[in-house]
Amino acid sequence: MSYSHQERSQNIQRMSTEEFDLAIIGGGINGAGIARDAASRGLRVALVEANDFASGTSSRSSKLIHGGVRYLENFEFGLVFEALAERALLFKMAPHLVHPLRFLIPVYKNSRVGLWKMRLGMWLYDLLALFETPQMHESLDAKEVYDRVPGIEMRGLVGGVEYSDAYTDDDRLVIETLRDAHRLGAVTANYTKVIKANKDGDALRELVVQDQLSGETFQIRAKQFVSGVGPWTDIFGKKMDEDWKCLMRPTKGVHLVFSKKRIPIKKAVVMAVEKRIIFVIPRQEMVIVGTTDTDFHEDPAKVSTAIDDVDYILGALRTYFPSLEITHSDIISSYAGVRPLVHDGSESEGKTSREHSIFSHGPNLSFVVGGKYTTYRLIAEQAVDFILNKMDFEQRMTFGPSNTNKPLNQAVSPARYDMAISQISKMSQSTGLNPKLVESLVQRHGEEAEQLFRLIQNDYSHYNINEAHWMAEAHFAIENTMCMSLKDFYWRRSPLFLAAKKHGLRYLKPILVVFKEQLGWHEAKVQEEERLLLENMQLELSWRAKTEDFLP
Ligand code: FAD
Repeated sequence: MSYSHQERSQNIQRMSTEEFDLAIIGGGINGAGIARDAASRGLRVALVEANDFASGTSSRSSKLIHGGVRYLENFEFGLVFEALAERALLFKMAPHLVHPLRFLIPVYKNSRVGLWKMRLGMWLYDLLALFETPQMHESLDAKEVYDRVPGIEMRGLVGGVEYSDAYTDDDRLVIETLRDAHRLGAVTANYTKVIKANKDGDALRELVVQDQLSGETFQIRAKQFVSGVGPWTDIFGKKMDEDWKCLMRPTKGVHLVFSKKRIPIKKAVVMAVEKRIIFVIPRQEMVIVGTTDTDFHEDPAKVSTAIDDVDYILGALRTYFPSLEITHSDIISSYAGVRPLVHDGSESEGKTSREHSIFSHGPNLSFVVGGKYTTYRLIAEQAVDFILNKMDFEQRMTFGPSNTNKPLNQAVSPARYDMAISQISKMSQSTGLNPKLVESLVQRHGEEAEQLFRLIQNDYSHYNINEAHWMAEAHFAIENTMCMSLKDFYWRRSPLFLAAKKHGLRYLKPILVVFKEQLGWHEAKVQEEERLLLENMQLELSWRAKTEDFLP
């Protein structure tokens, strides 16, 4: 199913001519979830996103699908239960995007939470998952902790616990959700920004939207409108209503990325620092360490990593892994995101509630703010129920029930995914491709990996295999995920910026060949894209010493 620049153009055309039941503003995980849910009930849906899909908070999270062990401390059992049930569902809905991972919490003599309390908490965690967990928790003594986490600080270590949760590709989960929404009939486009609203009294009549690529403006008419703009809620609210009262308390969270060689752990480690926890998360290509939690009052588009954030995270790593002697130069990349938290009067950032809010502003405008990735499907269902309740009874009755607990991608149901995984060595033999590459492509794309095999073998066979691999990924991303720029590809369709040596810039030339062919870029556009890519890399890594040469 194609989901490319062509669908984008057609969708913009449709948005400006048709009338919709629901128009969604924001293409992060909340907007994407709402689009899929509403389309699954038969609503005529439009979704606009000012930048690329998932370019806001939704590509800047810890990338965990989890119940939230730490909420147990605040007795938020309902929240944990709900998240664990959604975790179980997401394993089935997106086996290529949600992978089980073991987490280990080391406990020291002076740890804030002692060993017996930790063990009790773990029983509760498995119980709240109704024991539907990839693997039950284990209690460990100090030696077992050390054996399982090489390099961990031994002094004062009394034991630990190991339990199961999961990691995901947050950005790809958004895009896969939008692809399914598209299959269900939703009309979606990235780089389309709401700049103004036209009203009839208190009611919204239409949104004025600017295409950020062509500069042209158009209007979207809908019966109901919902904002899923996350940390931009106050900025957007003021655009909709000059009397808008600010309600957000956004906080910044930073992550650092390392190679697996430099932090050679197989299980995620939970480090307790002051009143926070910082995760060290090994994944396919990298180890992600984070996060921080500090008030942030600027435009979310301007969020970036500061040297203080880097030093804070490195400090925790050095305390827990002194023998690894991690330094600034070990960091491959960093990223910063803004939590869309609603101000609840809490004294500190860490205490501000992580729960989501759904509320009305006027007769046909609703807002969905906050929440967690893990529960996005449920939040979307609640949001669409809420919106339907604002419609006439007769109108409401024309729609079906929510139908979103199905696989996000028809070609990647659990059975088909398991089948593809079991065929890796066969596929490797029949294609002649290295089994490791076949495995990583199947893990990322399930059965759709076959399209990439064909591209590597047929279209890009005269390039070396690494180049051919990234060219095939770029080709697939342009055709199937509305990838419109080099930045979209390096940041959100592939792990190149985050995890590759020198951010994968050595593949830039062959990748550009694909963009030129597929999107018809002329030379000036190529140069502009290259400039923007490097500029964004420099901005994201601006905490580094200016002289440091990270570009080739
Ligand atoms: P966003 O992803 O920010 O989407 C809003 C979108 O609206 C943006 O793409 C923006 O461009 C668009 N927009 C803004 N203005 C306009 C406009 N005028 N017109 C059109 N579009 C507009 N959750 C978990 O479950 N697990 C985790 O491990 C986890 N870790 C986290 C770590 C950090 C550091 C942070 C910050 C959050 C974490 N979360 C985690 C929470 C989760 O990431 C967020 O709750 C979620 O991504 C919010 O999604 P959203 O769609 O509401 O916002």
